[in-house]
Amino acid sequence: MEYDPRKNRPIDLRSDTATNPSPAMRQAMAVAEVGEDGLHEDPTVNQLEERTAELLGKEAALFVPTGTMGNLVAVKVHTQPGEEIILEEHSHLYNAEMAGLSAVCGLLARPIPGDQDGMLCWGDIRARVRPRVYSRSQTRLICLENTHNYRGGTVLDNELVGDLCARAHELGLKTHLDGARLMNASVASGLSLATLSAGFDSVMIDFAKGLGAPAGAVVAGPAGWVERARSVRKLLGGAIHQPGILAAACLHGMEDFPVRLRDDHRKARKLAEALSKLPGFVVDPKRVVTNIVIVNLADDLNGAAACERLLERGILVHLLEDGRLRFVTHGSISDEELDFAIDCLKEEIPRLSRDSKPLNF
Ligand SMILES: *Cc1c(COP(=O)(O)O)cnc(C)c1O
Repeated sequence: MEYDPRKNRPIDLRSDTATNPSPAMRQAMAVAEVGEDGLHEDPTVNQLEERTAELLGKEAALFVPTGTMGNLVAVKVHTQPGEEIILEEHSHLYNAEMAGLSAVCGLLARPIPGDQDGMLCWGDIRARVRPRVYSRSQTRLICLENTHNYRGGTVLDNELVGDLCARAHELGLKTHLDGARLMNASVASGLSLATLSAGFDSVMIDFAKGLGAPAGAVVAGPAGWVERARSVRKLLGGAIHQPGILAAACLHGMEDFPVRLRDDHRKARKLAEALSKLPGFVVDPKRVVTNIVIVNLADDLNGAAACERLLERGILVHLLEDGRLRFVTHGSISDEELDFAIDCLKEEIPRLSRDSKPLNF
């Protein structure tokens, strides 16, 4: 069926959180068995926690309503106020989670620039680990992000990750993985979720991104650690009484996720190929391996103007703070819609680029 922008809803390429629960997911939610999760009596939540712990190769897992709360709970369980956390300077935890690290956990963040994939170099970390001197706050935790959102859905090199975690542990540091899109990393790399999580003390995965659930994430780690995380979740107001309805959506999202995410990745590559041919758009399609495409703009192209022009055509894209444009593909974007969006971009961007150049007399 031809996509008609006057009749249809906007094409939302801002984020994969734009995925709406499908009719089948809503059906799974409607019939979910539930119980009081405060007493471990919600069978659907118990099933989700057991299933994800097993997939991630950890002893236990805990359901949390959002990825943000998952990261916050994990960080809080690993640390004491006044300690330091090392993380990548473009990470979601450092930039897009309301400074919970300092506001809630009382930590001092030590952001370090990573490489183009958002991977941290051990040498850079080692130089910033505090000495055990009485007057120094102590470094406690290192966080990585896989896939790395603001670097363009990049997948971290798993050998480097394993090496980094091992060295961190030698120094007595803990490691946490923000794996909001770890399922995408698994599909793109062909490595299992357990392999990608192996070196970490704790891992967060999110079902509200490409998997399409309306809410829901888990944090996984050693059983005793997860029990402490359960109390911190309560402290933060995240203990829901019958979350089985949400867990059912998460379980549904986990079913054959590789098939659906592979399709998201195919669409992102196709979009990136088209974007790379537009004047003023700088993106290397070969570096697009998951569902996120980030485009650098030439100086004479205004990102805000581009967003506005696209909005008029019913296409939503995300303008990042640093002026780059982010496009995310997901299950609620059909091939017809993507093709329509590409056609609009091909029409609008050259026009915008011409308009913004000074006339040559
Ligand atoms: C979206 C996201 C989160 C937070 O997840 P919410 O479910 O939106 O709270 C954390 N980390 C990364 C990398 C994300 O992209």
